[in-house]
Amino acid sequence: MAILVDETINAGGGLVTRSGKIVEIIASGQSPSIEVDEISDAGSHVVLPGLINTHHHFYQTLTRAHPEAINKELFDWLKTLYPVWAKIVNRDSFRLATRLALTELLMSGCTTVSDHHYLYPTGIEDAMDIQADEATRIGMRMTLNRGSMDLSVKDGGLPPDSVVQDRQDILADCERVINAFHDPGEGAMLQVALAPCSPFSVTTELMRESADLASKCNCRLHTHLGETHDEDAYCIEKFSCRPVDYLEENGWLNERTWLAHGIHFNDQEISRLGHHGVGVCHCPTSNMVLASGQCRTLELEQAGASVGLGVDGSASNDNSNLMEGVRHALMINRLTYGAAAVTHKDVLRWATEGSAKCLGRNDIGKIDIGYQADLAMYTLDELRFSGAGDALAALVLCGAHRADRVMIGGQWTLIDGNPLGIDVARLRAEHEKAAREFAGSLFK
Ligand SMILES: [Zn+2]
Repeated sequence: MAILVDETINAGGGLVTRSGKIVEIIASGQSPSIEVDEISDAGSHVVLPGLINTHHHFYQTLTRAHPEAINKELFDWLKTLYPVWAKIVNRDSFRLATRLALTELLMSGCTTVSDHHYLYPTGIEDAMDIQADEATRIGMRMTLNRGSMDLSVKDGGLPPDSVVQDRQDILADCERVINAFHDPGEGAMLQVALAPCSPFSVTTELMRESADLASKCNCRLHTHLGETHDEDAYCIEKFSCRPVDYLEENGWLNERTWLAHGIHFNDQEISRLGHHGVGVCHCPTSNMVLASGQCRTLELEQAGASVGLGVDGSASNDNSNLMEGVRHALMINRLTYGAAAVTHKDVLRWATEGSAKCLGRNDIGKIDIGYQADLAMYTLDELRFSGAGDALAALVLCGAHRADRVMIGGQWTLIDGNPLGIDVARLRAEHEKAAREFAGSLFK
């Protein structure tokens, strides 16, 4: 067995979990000091803390590899897809999109997910309730991001009128969702973050009032920021300042906040973000697909910012496999910083500890006593691993993409690669049908 723990810990003998937490770490050759009810043999596994995905848009699984959007950079890609997404009004399809993304993430070894959802057409006003229900059914931890857009083209924003909501309606629903689902306590299965979509789709008033509400309700803040040079130009033209200044002016430069992408920051902005304890979700796959650029991960970490990982939405990835994202993070960061500067342990740390910090959690993201028993276990029995030396490095370098076992809060949720309680073939068929029907409906 290989296991990712702090270098000072000898965990060669395994772990004991009780009441959903890790209560004992056993050194090689030793036995548990307490009585255990059940033993699982992890002798042939590589064991990681459960992976934590800190940015996604589940609904986009219905618009993967969209023929009119592929081969475009962010603003043109968004302008092509907003009107398409506006037509996702079937709640069964939305539920299937959510279930599919959650299942993909689980199968790649994720135990905690965060979805940034900002579309609430008539019929899916209760998108957060559907997501909470699906995560609970699968047994995954989830941060529900009550996303929002209230600035459309007619007011100088990027999205069309059809996808934005009234600000007061948004804030009322944010409060409702927090009251219904936000559990700030240790071991929480559901938490809520407030997540205005981006500077070019949200009014300044909504940015500011979301920050005030998050402070009042003790929940986190999330938004897209620093993704493209187009966004810099937009902020300078509309607000006469750069995106980080805009955050600061609206009460967002604090440790409640984590940002998706965070690519185009200058040195001074990086040091301000680090000083204020802002987290950044690095989305390597999406950033490469849309040619957005490279997040300055090492400088951000050095400045004191937390760096986590995200797959981003399924129209710019276009899958939901965080182990693949870990591998992409290694590759793009090595290209930027050099082969010795970024190791497999660094990128695995981003996907676990770093992501946990982005979500404001100190009970997940590590294998240690007192942490939640969230584990992702992989086998190295596929052709791609044959002959590998270092087992932990092999996960990343040979391209692990599917967990063999996953435990969340001490409960098995995936065994022998199969998510418990989910018929994967049926889910695939139902989701495919929903996506095909949706695509067909666009041209009626
Ligand atoms: Zn995104």
